[in-house]
Amino acid sequence: TVGCVVMDKTGLLTAGTSTGGITAKRVGRVGDSPLIGCGAYADNASAAVSCTGHGESISKVCLASLVTEKCRLGIHPNKAIRESLSYMNKRVGGAGGAICIDNKGNIGIGFNTERMAWASKTNVESVYGLDAGERIVF
Ligand code: ASP
Repeated sequence: TVGCVVMDKTGLLTAGTSTGGITAKRVGRVGDSPLIGCGAYADNASAAVSCTGHGESISKVCLASLVTEKCRLGIHPNKAIRESLSYMNKRVGGAGGAICIDNKGNIGIGFNTERMAWASKTNVESVYGLDAGERIVF
C-alpha cells in the first residue's frame, strides 16, 4: 500500500490509498483500497484515514470509516486506530495498519501487522506498534 492523509492550509482533509493487492489474489478480487470507507475515508468534520493490511477484514469492518467516526466523537487518532484495529481483529480476524489526521491536526499512526513504514511532515508524538527502525520524519 501507498497511502496518504492530508490537511491543506485551509483545514480541508483528504485521503488516498493505492495498492497492488495481495500475493496470489484471485482474478477479479476487489480489495479494500478502492472501497470508500474501507481503505480510505475523509470527512472535514472529523478526520482523514488511509488503511493497509488484510483487505477482506478491512472491508468487513469498514476500517477507515470506523476510525473516522471515533475521531468525530473526539477520540485521538492514535487511540481511534488502536481501538479500530483491535475491534477488527476480534470481530473478523486479520491485521492491518492505518494513518490518520483529524480536523484539529492531530496525527495517528498505528498497526498490528509486524511492521509498517510511514513518514510525516509534522511531528508525531507516538505510534501504536512502533518499529523505530522504520520511522522517517522529514
Ligand atoms: N489492503 C490491500 C488489499 O488487501 C493490501 C495492501 O496493500 O495492504 O488489497
